[in-house]
Amino acid sequence: MKTVKRNEYEFWFIVGSQFLYGPEVLETVAARAAEMAQKMNAGGRLPFRLVYKLTAKTPEEISHIVKEANYKDTCAGIVVWMHTFSPSKMWINGLRELNKPYCHFATQYNREIPNDEIDMDFMNLNQAAHGDREHGFIAGRLRMARKVIAGYWQDEDVQKKLGAWMRAAYGAAFSKTLKVMRFGDNMRNVAVTEGDKVEAQIKLGWQVNTWPVGELAEEIRAVTEGEIDALMAEYGEKYTLATDDLAAVRYQAREEIAIRHMLTREGCGAFTNTFEDLCGMEQLPGLATQRLLEQGYGYGGEGDWKVAAMTAIIKAMTAGMGGGTAFMEDYTYHLEKGNEYSLGAHMLEVCPSVALERPRIEVHPLGIGGKQPPARLVFEGHPGSACVVSLIDMGGRMRMICQDIEAVKPVLPMPNLPVARVMWRAMPDLCTGAQCWILAGGAHHTVLTYDATPEMLRDWARIMEIEFVHINQTTTPERLEEELFLADLAWKLK
Ligand code: MN
Repeated sequence: MKTVKRNEYEFWFIVGSQFLYGPEVLETVAARAAEMAQKMNAGGRLPFRLVYKLTAKTPEEISHIVKEANYKDTCAGIVVWMHTFSPSKMWINGLRELNKPYCHFATQYNREIPNDEIDMDFMNLNQAAHGDREHGFIAGRLRMARKVIAGYWQDEDVQKKLGAWMRAAYGAAFSKTLKVMRFGDNMRNVAVTEGDKVEAQIKLGWQVNTWPVGELAEEIRAVTEGEIDALMAEYGEKYTLATDDLAAVRYQAREEIAIRHMLTREGCGAFTNTFEDLCGMEQLPGLATQRLLEQGYGYGGEGDWKVAAMTAIIKAMTAGMGGGTAFMEDYTYHLEKGNEYSLGAHMLEVCPSVALERPRIEVHPLGIGGKQPPARLVFEGHPGSACVVSLIDMGGRMRMICQDIEAVKPVLPMPNLPVARVMWRAMPDLCTGAQCWILAGGAHHTVLTYDATPEMLRDWARIMEIEFVHINQTTTPERLEEELFLADLAWKLK
């Protein structure tokens, strides 16, 4: 089956009304809805096309359009709005069938009430203020997971909200077709990287499976010198070669090509490996993995397939935004009073999409894994607001934890640190933030993203029907503890 390309996805705009007001009103509603979709598309703030589909007037029309939306692979979600009053018992049967992401866009065609012209005809045509309330009730009554956006459709902040939700909905479609390639198992004895892969596939759609490391080793051997030469030229253009050990760099190029071959052949968008299982390989992939991350693949170290999948999904959701998204690990703290920071890095595999400056290719020995010194990209992360995201398996359900952070240019030069690094202040402050993260059970591995906002991630979690915990400037450990306790009860009842 052909998979849908990103630019083929669209969202369907469905507008509610009824026959009560006569054909002229219905014609006006339809014309305005088409105009609104056209203008919002032309405005350039929506990352996907919004396509006006229908002015819904009967239960049959609604059921029919929902079935069509469910069936169409290119439909990533529906956006509904009640231009006039639309009795919502008409919507029950259709909404009960809906299995695509659902956004209720409570807006109004005109921005202002026209003082002189307003009469009862105007009131009947422009009654979203109560039409959207009638619609909101039925979605609430049906306990439907949905996004509600209220505001004027031409406003930038409103369109940005709709755009962020579209990205989350696209992330859901991407998630449902994602395949993760595992080389080797999880690192021995590590708990948080484990999880129920069947539950993950049921909830999130991921197909997480294993391939032999030996098969990758054969693929690595099969790469030609010509392929490596071409890639070395690309490395030379994009990075500063800060090593004489070209053989080590060439070996990483060989690994990059081989892993990409296997990912492409099997249709996988993410992969994992572990330094405990590198049979037949000369180096732990470092530069190779960083390069694949830069191309949009997800990756998790030490067999962490959950973070690998989340990295791929968040990269897909935020494509084109430009801030960067990386596989990350909280490594060590700087606990100077009033100047506290977390230093994030990994053994090798931080994505250069978050780099402040042109990355350097360096070769250094790796203390663990017992292999040859691997080439890797070394750089500092750029400053800016970002968040770190972790997905953990609570036993019976998945919990996504998102923490707001402020990344800074590292306060120390650290000339002897041979890996890419990002330094940040966790919210509400480093120590309280760490306390809250640990209370929530967040992993040491995260996805660090400058592009996905907490609202976008919350939208994604809601669509996927998993728990979402957000640690931010206003979080206190006491309230978080209560929230986690109550969530645990609620999720057991679900
Ligand atoms: Mn790790």
